Amino acid sequence: MSRDFTLIAGPCTVESREQTLATAYAVHAAGAGMLRGGAYKPRTSPHSFQGLGRDGLRLLAEARDATGLPVVTELTDVREIEPVLEVADVIQVGARNMQNYALLTEIGRSGRPALLKRGPASTIDDLLQAAEYILSEGNDDLMLCERGIRTFEHATRFTLDLSAVPVLKERTQLPVIVDPSHAAGRRELVRPLSLAAVAAGADGLIVEVHPNPAEALCDGPQALTTSEFADYADEVHALARAMRPAVELAAV
Ligand code: PEP
Ligand code: MN
Repeated sequence: MSRDFTLIAGPCTVESREQTLATAYAVHAAGAGMLRGGAYKPRTSPHSFQGLGRDGLRLLAEARDATGLPVVTELTDVREIEPVLEVADVIQVGARNMQNYALLTEIGRSGRPALLKRGPASTIDDLLQAAEYILSEGNDDLMLCERGIRTFEHATRFTLDLSAVPVLKERTQLPVIVDPSHAAGRRELVRPLSLAAVAAGADGLIVEVHPNPAEALCDGPQALTTSEFADYADEVHALARAMRPAVELAAV
């Protein structure tokens, strides 16, 4: 039987208790399977909001306790692995850290499930070799994530490389997750890119949601609102069910 489809949703960044809990309750009610949220943010500018750090991790733990949703959160610095391990059900490696080999090795040694994002200027081979740093430490609970790459095209924030989905599935047994939010850069494109990713065979999506994107401290333009997320989740799940192999459907 193939793996269940995984919808991971939540804010880009943990900003406050109210914002985190409101988002967690909304995505849980809409049927998301995991909560995402960054406490440590790898920002392009050092002057941008860098995240709440350990206070953010505590808010994620509270949101998990309140909803029961497992938490996916990013580790940006190997010196913070202990506090992150206290909270993260899945450790996210951000696109900018895909080739931070010391970080990958420590995550491998930790044995904790991980989600490894493809770097914006990395090939599929680069991603697979980065994954090997985690796998070769004996940790094979790993999801790979396509989140858009840099091309000459600027109509979107990055170019979502949907070919990566079938290519990765040809080359590995690991689940392939697509992040339409960072690729799109604006919320209007998140739904069509999500449906295309599911149709291409993705095992899951990781998507940004915020109760009030206009006031988000990071990535507001690409966040779905908590109120529009329910319809979005229904559509994505309906397509994911339709994509299940007939043999599996016969078993349910
Ligand atoms: C994020 O998930 O909020 C993030 C920073 O993503 P990426 O590493 O893909 O840019
Ligand atoms: Mn983000």
